[in-house]
Amino acid sequence: MNVADSERVSSALEHLGYEYSPVIEDADVIVLNTCVVRQSAEDKAYGRLTSLLPVKRKRPEVVINLMGCLVGMKDNAPLRKRFPYVDVFSPPSDPSPLVEYLLQREAYSAEQAETARRYAVMDGDLLLPHNPGAQPVIGWIPVVYGCSHACAYCIIPYRRGVEKSRPPEEIIKEARSLAAQGVKEITLLGQIVDRYGIDEPSYPRLEGLLRQLSEIEGIERLRFLTSHPNWMTDELLRAVAELPKVMPHIEIPNQAGDDQVLKNMRRGYTADQYRRLVWKIRERIPGVSIATDIIVGFPGETEEQFQHTYDLLAELKLDVAHLARYSPRAGTLSERTMPDDVPASEKWRRFRALEKLQENIVREIHASYLDKTVPILFEEKIKKRWKGRTPTNKIVFVESDADLRGQILDVKIIRTGPWSMLGELA
Ligand code: SAH
Repeated sequence: MNVADSERVSSALEHLGYEYSPVIEDADVIVLNTCVVRQSAEDKAYGRLTSLLPVKRKRPEVVINLMGCLVGMKDNAPLRKRFPYVDVFSPPSDPSPLVEYLLQREAYSAEQAETARRYAVMDGDLLLPHNPGAQPVIGWIPVVYGCSHACAYCIIPYRRGVEKSRPPEEIIKEARSLAAQGVKEITLLGQIVDRYGIDEPSYPRLEGLLRQLSEIEGIERLRFLTSHPNWMTDELLRAVAELPKVMPHIEIPNQAGDDQVLKNMRRGYTADQYRRLVWKIRERIPGVSIATDIIVGFPGETEEQFQHTYDLLAELKLDVAHLARYSPRAGTLSERTMPDDVPASEKWRRFRALEKLQENIVREIHASYLDKTVPILFEEKIKKRWKGRTPTNKIVFVESDADLRGQILDVKIIRTGPWSMLGELA
């Protein structure tokens, strides 16, 4: 979601005539996009922000824009006070405060418009590859902004505001423009993406949107994330199974395998409902890959309750598990009412236990690809190897001197491991 937000700012700046600068120190405008979903992300954002102070001291005319969940949707007076060298504060997904600031500034300094202007976008660790030479293959389109679900641990609804679906015409227009720029694969984004259209009955639901997007020439692959177990419908599963451009990959967080923990988390389903949903997804979409998110060390999580999560993951053998250690977020229900009582060392132990389990599961799943031929969409060349993905979103490397960027080619898998696979053009 943040990568998508950063791309929107980049795009707004390019419309204003700015050029991408790969070197932050050379930029006239610096955008720092932030995430606060866990304390570690928030700490990183503050670290980056502090590192910009010397840049601003040296060149006071540089415009610094702080964006994203650190800013949030509400009053940002405390941040303004703490970071007086930040020129513009923007909520998530919204480039307009920066655009307005720059337009106003330009009106006062006409001579500035004569010189080339450069911008840089920092996104956590990631400097977006917006350099003109590299042809983008993958694009992201937010289709639902915000979230109204309020899981007990989650800060996103507080920082990204209430759930709001975007008009389908706007989404289709963006998809067309991405296709025209050579993008081959689009991922639709939402905190609960399968709730698309629920807040606006005149809009199609997610499956309808996928059908419309499937019509766009040039777009070869469609994905969507993240799903919530309670909103994954049969109609959506049918669309994934039927539409050839929609890839057989579902991101559906489980968070915990214990019913009491799930209840404390306010997730709204039981471990068995999650298990049955996984069975159903596998039955409806043959060869599907399923990714999940898990939080270990939620307040009050006992050893036995953790074991239920471990056992569920061991049983379901999912393709990916994004693991996180519980991090109390100010203002959330769990932070206000449940003591963070699982010691850090124990959170780490549970995290590592799941990591090890999952590594073995993934090694086994990947091994089943050996000697098979799969269509790979190639994204970029890293050193001597081209990196691409299977329809199931698994990373495959292929050595080739040819320019494979943006092509979908059959690849025979010749080596597999828990992190990636190696193949050769078939
Ligand atoms: N709306 C999506 C994504 C939420 S953020 C969803 O519900 O799946 C991505 C992941 O971060 C979550 O799925 C959760 O596993 C993790 N996460 C969110 N809040 C957290 C917290 N306070 N501590 C640790 N992990 C958290």
